[in-house]
Amino acid sequence: MDVEFIKKHLVPHPDFPKKGIVFLDIFPLLRNPIAVETLITNFVHHLTSSTVAKTPNHKIDVVVGLDARGFLFGPIIALRLGAAFVPVRKAGKLPGQCHTALYEKEYGVDSFDIQVDAIQPGQSVIVVDDLIATGGSAKAAGELVAKCGSQVLEYLFIIELAFLKPAEKLDAPLYSIVQVE
Ligand code: 5GP
Repeated sequence: MDVEFIKKHLVPHPDFPKKGIVFLDIFPLLRNPIAVETLITNFVHHLTSSTVAKTPNHKIDVVVGLDARGFLFGPIIALRLGAAFVPVRKAGKLPGQCHTALYEKEYGVDSFDIQVDAIQPGQSVIVVDDLIATGGSAKAAGELVAKCGSQVLEYLFIIELAFLKPAEKLDAPLYSIVQVE
């Protein structure tokens, strides 16, 4: 029932950003605080009832959010868990020393950065974004966490384009609230 309520706030836009693509807009969800609360409760309930049991100290230490819509939900989840929030940003946006990982986009290659001291080796890390499509960007985030000396425990998304089989690209389980088959 909660999932149906969340789904109602995801609005499809055919032919955006270009012809043939149906873009799912998550911003209508942010206009309704009850929908945001429902979403965050779903994530936090899943994490505390299942994922934390897999950590050595029964705690998630770091929530990594992906540029840009992962920044909308990641910090709220981190606050609820008492965890740190760490951004993975598009190339050249973060100051200081960074690790870099490449990922494939529709046309060509792009890259993500993380600050080298943002995650300590061995910390329990989850990755959050609004939607996973091919899984390329999430995979690159996993590589950045590995470069920091840690490993992703789980990848979390509001929406999974399951027909693209993104889970096959990832080195840890994928959790999504809405699956598009
Ligand atoms: P991937 O790297 O998995 O192919 O693409 C995922 C990235 O593209 C995410 O950062 C996500 O925000 C963005 N993205 C791709 N398609 C959509 C869409 O239909 N709706 C939204 N909200 N984001 C999308």
